[in-house]
Amino acid sequence: MPDLAHVIREISEEMAQRSDRGTVADYIPELARVDPKNFGIAVIDAEGQAFTGGDSDTPFSIQSVSKVFTLTLALGMAGDRLWKRVGREPSGNPFNSIVQLERERGVPRNPFINAGAIAVTDLILSGHEPREALGEILRFMQFLAQDASITIDERVAASEKRTGFRNTALANYMKSFGVIDNPVDYTLGVYFHHCAIAMTCRQLATAGRFLAHNGRIPATGHSVVSAERARRINAIMLTCGHYDGSGEFAYRVGLPGKSGVGGGILAVAPGKASIAVWAPGLDAAGNSHLGRVALEQLTQRMGWSVFGA
Ligand code: GLN
Repeated sequence: MPDLAHVIREISEEMAQRSDRGTVADYIPELARVDPKNFGIAVIDAEGQAFTGGDSDTPFSIQSVSKVFTLTLALGMAGDRLWKRVGREPSGNPFNSIVQLERERGVPRNPFINAGAIAVTDLILSGHEPREALGEILRFMQFLAQDASITIDERVAASEKRTGFRNTALANYMKSFGVIDNPVDYTLGVYFHHCAIAMTCRQLATAGRFLAHNGRIPATGHSVVSAERARRINAIMLTCGHYDGSGEFAYRVGLPGKSGVGGGILAVAPGKASIAVWAPGLDAAGNSHLGRVALEQLTQRMGWSVFGA
């Protein structure tokens, strides 16, 4: 097998030099300030050894990568009842699309497009104050990443709140069909804040380990979810984790993955590794361009695709 440390070094060097860096998201003004030259990668293997390259210890806005963790929490609270509110089919539409929601009577296609993630957040919020729900999500991230220093970037959250007209429309639209239980402002407040959690590649790869190891954190033996649930979350990541770029990501990378408009991607090589990459420039579908390129090279060279070598 190729030497992982060597592969990561080579990928990091190449990514630092490439000129095709995509475009940084600017519909959340605070994200537009991030330097597109950043590139970070962290891989944690089955034994718990971390291999890192580039800006792997620089915190970035995890944005939609947080949706993997809110889905995990919501499934823990509601179990299969969750699937009454949200589907699990790829949308084939942009992450913030409204059009499908009208045809499908306010029930979002899957938990990773914005509408679906807002419905999931609403479920976590029910029976709590927004502050408590947010604390629950943040503590879950800190527990999984084994790092109590992880925080929310309040400037990013406020920036999205000021400009989140599209998400406000989605939430109101779902509310009109009874898919959202709580006041729309509360649900969106929690949603914007969990999207604004800031983490490094190393922290994110650590947090994703349970998905690579049948629901368990190998280092501690803690069971986060059952093996069956981990497998199913991975399936949804594979089919829906990159919106209308999910097919292309499966074709090129071949791993369950979840992207965010901050330029992060969490990818899971079952039984082998948890991987986080960060490159802020996005492609047309809103997924990290160089993050995808780096993962494609990594899985190809290591033979990690779930579809075979
Ligand atoms: N907070 C972002 C939004 O709702 C998340 C989108 C994303 O990362 N794709 O628009």
